[in-house]
Amino acid sequence: MKQHILVVEDEKSIQNIVRIYLENAGYLVTCLDDGIAGLAWAQQNQPDLVVLDLNLPSMDGLEVAARLRQVSDVYILMLTARGEEEDRILGLRLGADDYLAKPFSPRELVARVETILRRSRRGTPTLNEALRFAHLTINNTTHEATADGQLLDLTLTEFQLLWAMAQHAGLVLTRDQLIEQVWGANFYGNERVVDVYVGQVRRKLQDATGELLIQTVRGVGYKFADGKQA
Ligand code: CA
Repeated sequence: MKQHILVVEDEKSIQNIVRIYLENAGYLVTCLDDGIAGLAWAQQNQPDLVVLDLNLPSMDGLEVAARLRQVSDVYILMLTARGEEEDRILGLRLGADDYLAKPFSPRELVARVETILRRSRRGTPTLNEALRFAHLTINNTTHEATADGQLLDLTLTEFQLLWAMAQHAGLVLTRDQLIEQVWGANFYGNERVVDVYVGQVRRKLQDATGELLIQTVRGVGYKFADGKQA
């Protein structure tokens, strides 16, 4: 079955080219022009991924992302204009999985979409499918993490960041190492993006356990420390 992608973008020229490239790449594509319509459609039809422009009529992309995130785990690729770094960071904070700054090449958009969707169905289980710590259990096959038995609500990128850190529990990872493990060659932002994601994961872990499980090592990077492995 074809994967279904919703494109919410009010600029027709961009909408058209994105549609052509995504359809050629084998996806089923629905295009809508405004935020409220996009949100409603996504809630009803549950696409596999939403390409979401930031500046939209009726409801902007940030609000659409935030509302969508409240009710769904759908992947969100945000489109932003140059110079909207604050919005970009806010978008990631609200749960977007990736972003692409305009102007972008449609080929790159297809590559990003494929990367996001591929990350979610990594077929081959590794030997180390689940890591167990004092508080956390992290399962890389189901992409689920629990803290003190409670399922954590993590976006895909947040999960991958946690997984990368937990695999090196007790060791300091630099931002560059995290970028390489989580985003690979698809990282185009600056290191602040890593800080935003780490901050989110840390807060979620802290909310669930009351513990500071991710430590900042000043001038170096981050360290995951959750007691001893069971
Ligand atoms: Ca727009």
